[in-house]
Amino acid sequence: MKIRIKVPEECPLSPPEVFIWKKTLLREKWKKLSLSVLNKWRESFELYMIVEEILKKYVPEGRFLVKIAEIKATCGYDFVGGYVRYTVAVSNEGNIPVTGVTVTIDTPEMFRILWHKPHEHKRKGNIIHIGTVKPGETKSIAAYLEPLVCGKTTIPSYVTYTDPLTKNVRSISLKSRKIEVKCPLFFTVTEANLAKVKNLLETAKNKDDRRYGIPEDIDPNEALKIVKRTIEQFDVKKISENTINEKPLLTEVYYYGITKYLKNPIAIKIVVDGENKALIIEAATAHKEQLIGLLSELGNQLIKTLMEQQIIKKLEDLKPLICPQCGAKWKRLPSPDKPLKCPACSISFTHI
Ligand SMILES: [Zn+2]
Repeated sequence: MKIRIKVPEECPLSPPEVFIWKKTLLREKWKKLSLSVLNKWRESFELYMIVEEILKKYVPEGRFLVKIAEIKATCGYDFVGGYVRYTVAVSNEGNIPVTGVTVTIDTPEMFRILWHKPHEHKRKGNIIHIGTVKPGETKSIAAYLEPLVCGKTTIPSYVTYTDPLTKNVRSISLKSRKIEVKCPLFFTVTEANLAKVKNLLETAKNKDDRRYGIPEDIDPNEALKIVKRTIEQFDVKKISENTINEKPLLTEVYYYGITKYLKNPIAIKIVVDGENKALIIEAATAHKEQLIGLLSELGNQLIKTLMEQQIIKKLEDLKPLICPQCGAKWKRLPSPDKPLKCPACSISFTHI
C-alpha cells in the first residue's frame, strides 16, 4: 500500500517534493505530524490517494483530524430520440461532505438546453444546482439539448463547489467527446402511399418530434405554409394533406423520402393545430443518427425562415412545447390567462 503526498518545499518533513510512503514507514511519519503541523500545511497537502482504513489503523483516533475534500467529475453524451443527452457525474472521493455543487454546461450556439433530469435539481439557464455531495456519493445529472444546426462540436462543462476546508470556490473543467449531428440533407424522391408512411411513423424504432408554439403574430394557415415550404426544400415527396378542421385549423401533412446516404426511408408528419396554437413536425426512421440530423435541420430551417420573414426576432421567440422541468411534451404553451399544469410533473406554468 502506498500513499503519495505532495509536500511543500519548506515543510519540515522536507524533500523530495513528492513522498512515496510505504506501509511500514507510514506509522512513523504520521507520528511525527502533530495536529498543528497538519493544520498548518493542510491546504498545501494534496493527498492523491488515501485509504480510510489506513487512517483508522495508523492514526490513533481523535489525535489527528485529516479532512480530505476531493471531487471528481466526468461527462458524456448520447442521442435520445431527436435530442442530445449530455450527462455529468460528480463523485465525492474525500471524507467530508462538499456543498454548493453546480454543473454549468457551456452550450455552443448550435445547442439549447430544453430540460434536465432529475428535475428536483434547480436549473437556471445553463447552470444546474446539485447541492451537497456526501463522501462516497456520486450524483449525476442529464441535460437534454436540442441541436439547432448540423455539424461537429465538443461541449465543455464545468463543475464548481465550495472547498469545505478553505471555503474557496473550486472548479473542474470537463470536455465532451466530439458530438456530431449529421444531416441527411439529400433525399431521393420516392413514391409511397399513405398507409406505408403512417406505418413507418407508428412502427419505426426511432421517432420523435420538434414541437413549437405558433408565434403570436401569425395565423395558423400562414404557419402551415411556412412549415410546408421548409420541408419541401428537401427532396421529399408530399404524400397526403388532410384538413380535419377549417376553423380553428387542424391539418396533417405527410411526407416520405429516402436518404441518399444509407438509403434509409424517412417519414415526416406535420400537424398544425390552430386551437392550441401548436406546430408539430414528427419524423420516423430506422436510423437513430439520421433522425436527430433530420429534426435538427428541419427545426433550424424553420427558425431561419421565421427570422427572415421577421415573424420572430430571436431563437427564444420560437418556444418549444416541452416542459422545462421534466421534458414532457405539451399540446400548447402556457400563458398568464391560460396557465398549464404539466401532466407529468404537476408543476403549473404561466409562461416558459
Ligand atoms: Zn413537467
